Amino acid sequence: KVLCAAGIIVGLLAFFWRDTFNPDSISGARVLLTGASTGIGEQMAYHYSRFGAEIVLTARRGTLLQKVMEKCLQLGAKKVFYIQADMSSPQAPEEVVHFALQKLGGLDHLVLNHIGGTPFRMWDGDVEHTRWLMQVNFLSYVALASAALPILAESKGSLIVVSSLTGKISTPFTTSYSATKFALDGFFSSLRHELAMQKQDVCITLCILGLIDTEMALEKTRDKVYMSAYPAAEAALTIIKGGATRAREVFYPWWLELLCCLRDWFPDQRDVVIQSFYNYTSA
Ligand code: NDP
Repeated sequence: KVLCAAGIIVGLLAFFWRDTFNPDSISGARVLLTGASTGIGEQMAYHYSRFGAEIVLTARRGTLLQKVMEKCLQLGAKKVFYIQADMSSPQAPEEVVHFALQKLGGLDHLVLNHIGGTPFRMWDGDVEHTRWLMQVNFLSYVALASAALPILAESKGSLIVVSSLTGKISTPFTTSYSATKFALDGFFSSLRHELAMQKQDVCITLCILGLIDTEMALEKTRDKVYMSAYPAAEAALTIIKGGATRAREVFYPWWLELLCCLRDWFPDQRDVVIQSFYNYTSA
């Protein structure tokens, strides 16, 4: 009981003593942002631009990236470039980091945000799809981080990994996706220890998001999930603030952090609550 109370007090103190965000810390920052053509990535591009960052955007669709780039310039980005890349190709991560280094001359923030398309339904035994999704959602993150780490070490930069509640607590209809997000937590949380042990001043921020109102998420979860979707622009800003303040983890909406705290204490009740959010018959 004493240990539990002490844990709660330490948690509350840590919660209130988080670093406050200083927008100037991002002005002129050199940012490589993946999954930047739509959704939360696109919104992050606009926020970084308003803060006056220098940005390299990447995703597969050049026409969308071109439009995002133009809007970023209007919003105040100091420099913006884009490179088309498909992260299912094992060569893509190194090419993208090389491009960013060439264009920006260094890197302060690497934001890993892209995801490959995956069905939102019950597991149908498609192992090949899981293998492909691991490449796009997990292995490409590892390869991007590996290529960028020496550059981030020089700038004492931030590595920001966008994950999901489904990467902390398993939920229905997301088998392969959930596996890729759990893998990110395992890999990057272990790497965080190793960087600290080597006294390397690169921070790793893992971002845990709930349901966000991007086109992709709303389309997939329609009639299947009874949960409100939170605004992508706000999710994007929370991620950026987390990276800039060198937070270990950020949660959006905030109450996901409480849910994650409770997850191991009441596993049976937790599973009943999660299942109550899902429409089993339409999946
Ligand atoms: P979107 O589907 O809107 O965006 C995905 C981005 O990834 C797009 O820019 C897309 O661009 C790019 N992408 C897709 N496939 C590839 C590929 N093979 N290679 C390179 N880029 C690719 O997703 P969201 O904005 O909703 O999600 C962003 C992040 O937030 C993800 O990490 C997701 O897991 C996380 N998240 C989202 C939630 C939500 O409810 N929306 C909930 C929890 C977490 P293009 O097609 O042009 O390549």
